[in-house]
Amino acid sequence: MRVNTGRRLLDRVLAGVPAGENPLTHVRDLPERAAGCVPWPSWVPDLVRDAFIRCGVAQPWAHQIEAAEHAMAGRHVVLATGTASGKSLAYQLPVAVALTADPRATALYLAPTKALGADQLRSACALELPTLRPASYDGDTPMAERDWVRAHARWVFTNPDMLHRGVLPAHGRWAGFFRRLSFVVVDECHGYRGVFGSHVALLLRRLRRVARLYGSDPVFVLASATVTDPAGSATRLSGVDCVAVTADHSPRGARTVALWEPPLLADVAGENGAPVRRPAGAEAARILTDLVVEGARTLAFVRSRRGAELTAIGARRALSEVDPSLASRVAAYRSGYLPEERRALESALADGELLGVASTNALELGVDIAGMDAVVMAGYPGTLASFWQQAGRAGRAGDGALVVFVARDDPLDTYLVHNPAAVLDKPVEATVIDPLNPYVLAPQLACAACELPLTPDALAAFGGPVAERVVDKLVADGTLRRRPTGWYWTSRDKPHSAVDIRGSGGEQIAVVEADSGRMLGTVDPGSACRTVHPGAVYLHQGASYVVDELDLDTGLALVHAEDPEWTTSPREQVDISVLRRASRSSGGGVEVCLGEVAVTAQVVGYLRRLPSGDVLDQIPLDLPAQTLETRAVWYTLDAPLLRAAGLTPARVPGALHAAEHAAIGLLPLFASCDRWDIGGVSTAMHPDTGAATVFVHDGHPGGAGFADRAFAAFLPWLSATRDAIAACECPTGCPSCVQSPKCGNGNDPLDKPGAVAVLDVVLTSLA
Ligand SMILES: [Zn+2]
Ligand SMILES: [Zn+2]
Repeated sequence: MRVNTGRRLLDRVLAGVPAGENPLTHVRDLPERAAGCVPWPSWVPDLVRDAFIRCGVAQPWAHQIEAAEHAMAGRHVVLATGTASGKSLAYQLPVAVALTADPRATALYLAPTKALGADQLRSACALELPTLRPASYDGDTPMAERDWVRAHARWVFTNPDMLHRGVLPAHGRWAGFFRRLSFVVVDECHGYRGVFGSHVALLLRRLRRVARLYGSDPVFVLASATVTDPAGSATRLSGVDCVAVTADHSPRGARTVALWEPPLLADVAGENGAPVRRPAGAEAARILTDLVVEGARTLAFVRSRRGAELTAIGARRALSEVDPSLASRVAAYRSGYLPEERRALESALADGELLGVASTNALELGVDIAGMDAVVMAGYPGTLASFWQQAGRAGRAGDGALVVFVARDDPLDTYLVHNPAAVLDKPVEATVIDPLNPYVLAPQLACAACELPLTPDALAAFGGPVAERVVDKLVADGTLRRRPTGWYWTSRDKPHSAVDIRGSGGEQIAVVEADSGRMLGTVDPGSACRTVHPGAVYLHQGASYVVDELDLDTGLALVHAEDPEWTTSPREQVDISVLRRASRSSGGGVEVCLGEVAVTAQVVGYLRRLPSGDVLDQIPLDLPAQTLETRAVWYTLDAPLLRAAGLTPARVPGALHAAEHAAIGLLPLFASCDRWDIGGVSTAMHPDTGAATVFVHDGHPGGAGFADRAFAAFLPWLSATRDAIAACECPTGCPSCVQSPKCGNGNDPLDKPGAVAVLDVVLTSLA
């Protein structure tokens, strides 16, 4: 019997595990799936059919035709199937047929990244249908070509950023294009979540309004990863009712999925003496090394930029001892790279010059790489959609592949490797957006009014009463003017360029090497004080730099090349105050609230730490405090309840703090957010609630819907939190349960048994 490739690779990896360690917590073989082909439908003209056959599509799969037929019938549709399931054909086919049948019809394609857009444009060009005239229109399109695209292209490939800044504000110049706009394709629509997703939802409503102005009512075709309730998510995003196609008929090779928990290290103590596990990145580097030695083309996904660099360095170092020629065939890839660096790495991986790549999630979108022999995930990528997206890079029809999920020192990862069903048998979470966030709605309504005066009807599409309140505020502050026929933008300057739809919170901070003037990369302004404060160690392309100066006003961080033996971690002071309660529920001495809060944070210093975990020293910093108004969920416990939980007053702060950390770690399982998108504060007595309180708040102005989701899923969320803490075998708390890598208080105080006691009384009181 032929040995499954995935199992064979797993055996090789396990052979390299040191004696006495047993990192494997679960193995599951996912069976091969045969292709479900259907004949070309009769509504596809021979010319179009032959073009697809020339491009290698001998016969379509059933789900592709099902989605295409909805679109042809004028029904908005979302196709939610796995990676490499040929979602492109589902929209290429109706667009190609419509543009061939009607010589004046046009179509718009939107991708969340330029890379994906470029990929899809290539694929449309390859059809060589003279009627399509596909062209890209993004930030890279030369000015000279833009006029041609507006006047002649029939299928325009762009991204939300360009639609927002380049197309809609100048819609008059696109009149011909909008007049016969037949289809709007929204690719990888599950990527539109949080603040960015909320902006894109409103952007699509602006797009429909402008299209209607010119007399068209395009059909929306959305492509998504497999998610729960794809129709609901697509409808919320697009603002039009969508039908969902979810039955995947693409063939898939067998895959072996291994869940892997690195061991606690015996001789290393972390913060406050806690045990630590071997880092997931180091474990991934070791697995990557073994797989590259086997000749397996392998992608390792690592959560952080820094981690991807270190994993690639670790694998190269290990390979140079085995076979120096292999070392050069491993590289790192991440989103902060400049475009030319990215393209060089992409093509090297595509043509097999590279065997192993350690990547951040940057590879998740937009790069057409599939059919790998193995995928290693160092840490949960934040959502099940991303998990399957990354796992989907492995496996070719007719051949097996290996997927290894290595748990990081993190409560969510701990929970998942001990609860395989939560990863392997659970439907993917729905994406969370909040298009009613006033911080998103206000600038979007200003843009909409500038494009075309707002009418009461238009406001209904933008959220009804909430939009009306926001517009009233815009009138009060002079942004808009009320006239009998609607609300008008009256300034000569357009508002668009000041609106940051990616929600990164303003202009990026450039990281520049002072000596050479070379720009190394960029960081978000919201996180700059934490990541590029003076003295911070910053890694780029495997090289290490130390920050000399951070100037928030000019958006510049100056660094010099230096490779110190320590790493740095910031210390932060955080205060929170309640501005408004929106909802509450209570029971037995516990109150749970959802509402608006103000979070004031100031980075006050940083620790320098040796690889052993030992702290060298703490260095004070003088950086400005930053205030964030956002949404939060919080719960309070009254004093008798804390006593009933067996907690003396001295233990309460540590118990609440530990419960807060673990809850933040588990929320991504319920709210499709990233641990770094949310924050928390806990206190034994909060002045605004008058009781012991744990807050978990959104990390973006006005919120991104995560706190709302946490409130809605409160009981399952805290019950998973309790289970994750209880499942960790450490005695008094470690990064796998209650310690947090982003704690501004140095993970002190933390009381692990106290956290379980707090969560137990909260859950029983509310049950
Ligand atoms: Zn632990
Ligand atoms: Zn903390």
